[in-house]
Amino acid sequence: MGTVHQYVLLAFVAVGLGSGCIYDGLVVEDGSGFSRGPSRAGMLYEGAKLPTRGEGHWIPPTWASRGLNYGVDEMVSTVVYAGRSLKLQDSRLELGVGDISRAHGGRSPWHRSHQTGRDVDFLFLVKDKAGNPLRNDQMRKHLATGAERVAEGKRAEVFFDARANWLLVEALITNPVAEVQYIFVQADLRQLMLDYAKQSGVSWAMRERAAQTMKQPSDSAPHDDHMHVRIYCPKDDVAAGCVDFGQMRWHKKDLKYGGRVERLQRYDDVLKDIDVGTFAWLIR
Ligand SMILES: [Zn+2]
Repeated sequence: MGTVHQYVLLAFVAVGLGSGCIYDGLVVEDGSGFSRGPSRAGMLYEGAKLPTRGEGHWIPPTWASRGLNYGVDEMVSTVVYAGRSLKLQDSRLELGVGDISRAHGGRSPWHRSHQTGRDVDFLFLVKDKAGNPLRNDQMRKHLATGAERVAEGKRAEVFFDARANWLLVEALITNPVAEVQYIFVQADLRQLMLDYAKQSGVSWAMRERAAQTMKQPSDSAPHDDHMHVRIYCPKDDVAAGCVDFGQMRWHKKDLKYGGRVERLQRYDDVLKDIDVGTFAWLIR
């Protein structure tokens, strides 16, 4: 005879089996949709749909009409979180979201990746000459200065908003739902964001983490007109065949390739320049 608790547990397992939560190797996952394969050759199962309009985000018409607004739950939650976070910090900011994946993932005419619901494109946050945020509905190319690349003889009216885009990066890498693997962005624009962060007193640790996550891709467009964000396979999706490709989680990479040793050396360099005499009374 089992206890009531055992029966309840059995009932849950039965429901789990019935709803198809069991996958290869009899692994029970968390019941949310999942990603299978690498980003460039994969599928999305039971993806979540990102609403066209939300609190702090919207999908401009060009992308809304494509229907690539499906992702793993963790991806969709991350986008919603980022939009809300921007709006909370500055109610004028609105995140323009491009493509994630088709409802069932797989190939699309517009992308090589974006196949598994773990990639999303964001339109850059932009501002006018006076610094007021503008609602962006296009992928505009920007120069190293941040000005929009416009036809010769014309003057740029739209500028890359280093502050707003930094706030987006910060929201992405600190979001509580998913761990971000890459933020693909052109090198000069990446630097504008890191410079802004430094000037505004963001901690070294946060800037270092952002610096490790933001890359200009070497094998595709330089991403001077949008940011492409990829999250790691959610833990329970790995058992279902989700495949991470490329850099490992940043802290692991840090350990593996000696980043920590370099950092200690950097601390040593800083410490050797400090006149210990001044602080001798503290050490005593
Ligand atoms: Zn993309």
